[in-house]
Formats: sequence, structure tokens, C-alpha cells
Amino acid sequence: MNKYDTNKISSYLLKSFKKCFIINSIDKSDLVILNTCSVRQKAQNKFYSYFDIIKKIKKINNKLIVIVCGCIATYDRKDIFIKFPEIDIVFSSNKIKKLPVLINNFKKFKKKIFDVDFKNNYDKNINNYLDKSNYSYINSFVSIIEGCNKCCSYCVVPITKGKEFSRPPMDIISEICYLSKNGVSEINLLGQNVNAYLGIFENGKKCTFSNLLNLISEIDEIKRIKFTTSHPINFTDDLILSYKNIHKIVDFVHLPIQSGSNKILRYMRRNYTVEYYNKIVDKLLNIRPKLIFGSDFIVGFPGESNKDFNLTIDLVNKIKFDSSFAFIYSPRPGTKSFNMIDNISYNEKKNRLYKLLELLRKNSIFWSNTMLNTEQEILVEGYTKKKDFLFGRARNNKIIYFNSNKNNNLIGKLINIKINKINKNMLYGKLVNI
Ligand code: SAH
Ligand code: SF4
Repeated sequence: MNKYDTNKISSYLLKSFKKCFIINSIDKSDLVILNTCSVRQKAQNKFYSYFDIIKKIKKINNKLIVIVCGCIATYDRKDIFIKFPEIDIVFSSNKIKKLPVLINNFKKFKKKIFDVDFKNNYDKNINNYLDKSNYSYINSFVSIIEGCNKCCSYCVVPITKGKEFSRPPMDIISEICYLSKNGVSEINLLGQNVNAYLGIFENGKKCTFSNLLNLISEIDEIKRIKFTTSHPINFTDDLILSYKNIHKIVDFVHLPIQSGSNKILRYMRRNYTVEYYNKIVDKLLNIRPKLIFGSDFIVGFPGESNKDFNLTIDLVNKIKFDSSFAFIYSPRPGTKSFNMIDNISYNEKKNRLYKLLELLRKNSIFWSNTMLNTEQEILVEGYTKKKDFLFGRARNNKIIYFNSNKNNNLIGKLINIKINKINKNMLYGKLVNI
């Protein structure tokens, strides 16, 4: 999401200021923008350590304009100027169109600017300014919903991103049409909870997430549709049915469960049970038996006993989750769980994380092995760095390498590959047909 926003920011500035260039060295810049994340302390620490460099440069070049946006800006509010006096402008990422004015005002009046709120949570038509050359040729992110209306006890997103706002459906469709005319054939829809999407057409009619998927699937040039992240609560039956009706939706579902223990899910305020989650998985597998699942997990949540953690392990074994994200719980000030008693040692948390990651790694190998000697449909993405192989993704998200014969007109095409070798969990195959 931040990469996507960063592209919007740089594209909009490049088009707004005639003499504006992006350069790679901060010490030669007039202006630096830090687009930050605060979902876990680790992300926040990255900002702190990067800021140490900025401080040094600002000492030498006090004309450098330092701008901060993204979650830390909304999380720390005006305190950010006390913590980091080097910052000149703070703005929320939903106000990109205002940024050129903010920069000009700062240059004129030399007064610090703080422009952060979620009113008018949408920069109309800002996506038209996206620098499409920043995308790889084949796949592209497209944001469809911002913010979150849930209140998971551990999460800062509702604080930092505000309430949900769904982009109007035709706005999304016109962006995807533009991208598809420029060579993009795979779309990855983005949002904190994409399946909570509820857009409104110009005639006032509502557009659900499954309606939107239907519309996108009708764009001929778009061959594959992905989305991230989904919430189990919003994984409704009409969305499940989309897996029957829309072949373009890939065979990989990223559906965060967070924990395999109902007690911990209750503490996390996730509002579903493991049984409910399993039902969604069963319904989906009934429709598409080939589906593979990925998830997000938090280990070491306050109150997580060994028994609770083992329930997570049991679930990972049962569903055989493939590529997933696993994190140690990070207490975030301002969230409900921040004051919960946390008596699990850090060492124990780390052990649990390693155990979970090791199991996920084994699952990934398991799924790769099931593909040996099978034929897979690949969307060809490009060459490896050494240019010795072409690569693309199978419908289940696995990367497959195959011999290129310098045949670059395959890039962007759907082809069939027979998998004939697995080496260090990397899959290799041979072209069958186009
Ligand atoms: N909306 C999605 C997730 C978005 S946040 C969902 O609810 O499923 C991305 C991931 O960051 C979460 O799934 C969670 O696993 C992790 N995360 C969020 N807050 C965290 C915290 N305080 N500590 C550790 N991990 C956290
Ligand atoms: Fe955070 Fe996701 Fe929960 Fe929203 S649904 S509060 S983004 S974890």
C-alpha cells in the first residue's frame, strides 16, 4: 500500500513542479519525503534509524525540506515535531493533491505545517497521475479501499488510516482499463480489507466486492485477478461463489486468521472462531479443490499459552497454509491490547515464531512437490537477473522458471509449462504450448 502511495506522491509532484526530479542521494536533494508505517514497532524503528541519516544531512544542509506522511504521521500527531524538530511538513497520505501547495506555503512562510485528517478521505482522480512506468510491465496494484472499520485489539490501522472509504467502482475500472491498454495483464487489488469494499455507482447503486470482481473480469486484457488482504468476516457467500464464476481469480487465497485458538481470537477481538474460518475454507475447496491458502499470524499475543500456540500449529497442519506472514506480537500504544498483561518471555515468543516459520517452510515444499510432473498455466513475468531463464507464476502463486531461448515475446502471455525439476524449493519446467 505504501509503495503504491509513494508512486502516487512522486508522480503527482513530478507533474506539478516543472523542475522536479527524483534523485537517488538524499545529500544532494532539496526535499525528502518519508512515507512511513507503524503497524509494528519494527516498522517504526526503521523510520527512526533512517531519520538519523536525515538529521545528519539537515545539519549540513539546513535548506533540506523534510516531509513525513503515512502512518507514523497520523499516529504521533503533532508530537512528531517535538520528537523530530527536523521535520517541516506532515501530511496524511489521502491529501497528496494538496502537497504542492503545502510545499509552496512552507517555502514562502517557513512555518511548520501539519495537515492530517481523514475528512474528505479521498483524493479524487489522484490515481490518474500514477506513473505507470513505475509498474512492472505485467502486474500492477490497484487500491480499491482505504481505512478499516474493525477494531482488532492489537491494531493501529483504524487509528492511522481512519474509517473505510471505497473508491467509486468506475474510477477503479477506468484505471484498470488504462493499465490493461499499457500491457498489464494481472491486477492485484489492494486494501486493508478488500472484501469489505462497498462502492457506489454514479446512479447511486451499490457495488459489492463480488460485483467489482465481475466487472474487472470482463476486461479482456486482464488475465488474472488477485487481491490482498481479505478479512474472514467479509468472506461472504457471494464472494465464495465468485471462485466458481470467475476463472481469472487465481488459485491462491490470502486470508489472515492470526491464531488457531478461539480464546486468543476473542482477546484479539477478531469476531470469528476457528470453526467459522474452517467453514469458509471448506466452502471454497468445495468449489475449487485446487485452492491453496496463505495467512497472517501473530504469535505471543498476551495470554497465549503453549496450548493456544499448539492450536495454531494444528491449524497450520490442517489447512497446510503456504506463503504466509508471521509476526511476534508488537504492543502498540493506543490499542486495546496495549495494557494487557503479557507474561510470555521474548525468548519463548521467538521460539514459537521459528517453529511456525519452519512449519510454513515445510508446507511450501509440500505444495511444490505436488506440482512435480504436472502441467501448470503460467503468466510469464520476465527474465531472471542473469537472463538465463524466463519466469512466471502458476495459478497458485508459485514461481516457475523455464528455459527462455531468448523468446521474449512470451512475456505477458499465459502459457503451459510441465514441471520437471525442483531444486532448493525452486520449480523448473519446460514449455508445453502457448
Ligand atoms: N486487515 C488485515 C490485516 C492488515 S495488517 C486483517 O485483519 O487480516 C497486516 C498484518 O499485520 C495483520 O494481519 C497482523 O498479522 C499484523 N499485525 C497488525 N498489528 C500487529 C501487532 N500489533 N503486532 C504484530 N502483528 C501485527
Ligand atoms: Fe487491523 Fe485488519 Fe483488524 Fe482492521 S481488520 S483492525 S486492519 S487487523
